[in-house]
Amino acid sequence: MASVSSPSKTSTSVHPGRIRVLKERSRPSDGKVGPVVYWMFRDQRIRDNWALTHAVDQGNKLNAPVAVAFSLFDQFLGAKARQLGFMLRGLKQLQGDLQETLQIPFFLFQGEAEETIPDFLRECGASLLVTDFSPLREVRRCKEEICKRVSDSVTIHEVDTHNVVPTWVASEKLEYSARTIRGKINKRLPEYLIDFPTLQPPSRKWPATSQSIDWDGVIADVLRKGAEVPEIEWCEPGEKAAMEVLMGSKNGFLTKRLTGYSKDRNNPLKPRGLSGLSPYLHFGQISAQRCALEARRVRKLCPQAVDAFLEELIVRRELADNFCFYQHHYDSLQGAWEWARKTLMDHASDKREHTYTREQLEKAQTTDPLWNASQLEMVHYGKMHGFMRMYWAKKILEWTRGPEEALEISIYLNDKYEIDGRDPNGYVGCMWSICGVHDQGWKERAIFGKIRYMNYAGCKRKFDVDGYVAYVKKVVGEIKKRKAESVLSQKAKKVCC
Ligand code: FAD
Repeated sequence: MASVSSPSKTSTSVHPGRIRVLKERSRPSDGKVGPVVYWMFRDQRIRDNWALTHAVDQGNKLNAPVAVAFSLFDQFLGAKARQLGFMLRGLKQLQGDLQETLQIPFFLFQGEAEETIPDFLRECGASLLVTDFSPLREVRRCKEEICKRVSDSVTIHEVDTHNVVPTWVASEKLEYSARTIRGKINKRLPEYLIDFPTLQPPSRKWPATSQSIDWDGVIADVLRKGAEVPEIEWCEPGEKAAMEVLMGSKNGFLTKRLTGYSKDRNNPLKPRGLSGLSPYLHFGQISAQRCALEARRVRKLCPQAVDAFLEELIVRRELADNFCFYQHHYDSLQGAWEWARKTLMDHASDKREHTYTREQLEKAQTTDPLWNASQLEMVHYGKMHGFMRMYWAKKILEWTRGPEEALEISIYLNDKYEIDGRDPNGYVGCMWSICGVHDQGWKERAIFGKIRYMNYAGCKRKFDVDGYVAYVKKVVGEIKKRKAESVLSQKAKKVCC
């Protein structure tokens, strides 16, 4: 069973509340101390990474070398070229930077982590495995399996470096809503929302250098296998690009676009009104704590925008982790509150004006041009505007045979096409829209029961619906044109060769 670590057993610079001991070694290692391995999963960055800091601290304490390992699953929640390409290009940069700045080697394995990680620990004779935290069941299952498979002389620590306040510290239970978790998180911020220490290379070097990785080959392979959902061009992967989006001098969110967050963030015609950080936050290429620290530094310039941003970045995002951590059924109707399940089931057989199959929805073949536009924005651009995501999911409830099917389809599409999909925010976003999670009951109506309703007329009052439809048409047209040109030039290259 996991337990939160006591200060004497952990790092000097990482708050002990961030660390859970998943496995304590039960067999002494005959005086021999092996290396420290950080199995990186959700937090794919060097900078501002408490798990990496903890691994280095522990290495120095034990006088042991440190390595980072990453295991590329054969399949992870249906990720395609879009998501895997972004991730691997980020990791490729990370390997070089890790070696250069910290002289820590990076190892890439392919296959199931429950096999590759214990094998690597055995090979290098590791004493300590450090890993980052994800509340998703696939990752938790995998960690349980690793705990069973590694030798009794290995200790395993899990570090929550994704959340500002670690999930298990923010609350010990499933929270009802933002209202119930907000105070708990805010109370802990003085302790956890602190500056990061500067990481130095470990005192003991790894005997060999980084593994030589055929990145181009690995990337080409995932692009080929996941070609159904191609990569996106507008979002450059990696830690440096993430920092540019946060605070770059050209078009950074905090440096150039902050005022737009107060006025434009609910306007789907102005995607730059949002921070655009979700792809980086999802893959851990930027730390939410870094974003929060930098946002607080400029709060005087635009307090309203910073407060709204911190509410989304900390409270809403960490509420989603709370839900997935404490609610095993975080992606099914079983995970909805009792009132919501009842009202949805009371209305499950209400007559629908239209019903669509998954295939029709996927191809944006509905009679609603606004919904079709949002679906196409997701399929081709890879990031649907935040406001449209709510309307999009609620319409799926209206147009399918019942809430279970609606949830299944919305999660399937969200995970397949969104660059930031397969995230607690996505499961909770769909559960909020369709099952009223973290929301309250509203006036009862057909199909939705007491679940909050959204419709076309409401959107029309809020923003220029025709303008959004035209905007998506233009964006999609440009993407298709570029793709066609690239296919032509590839063919031409082949002919020349
Ligand atoms: P910003 O408004 O700039 O927000 C900054 C960060 O705060 C986001 O990156 C995100 O980490 C967090 N945040 C913002 N809104 C929310 C929210 N409602 N709940 C939790 N955290 C939030 N978000 C994802 O990251 N991945 C998903 O797959 C995803 N799917 C969604 C599906 C539905 C049906 C709904 C209703 C919402 C979904 N969201 C998802 C939440 C939200 O829409 C996106 O996080 C946001 O649009 C991302 O754009 P941004 O970073 O530019 O947003």
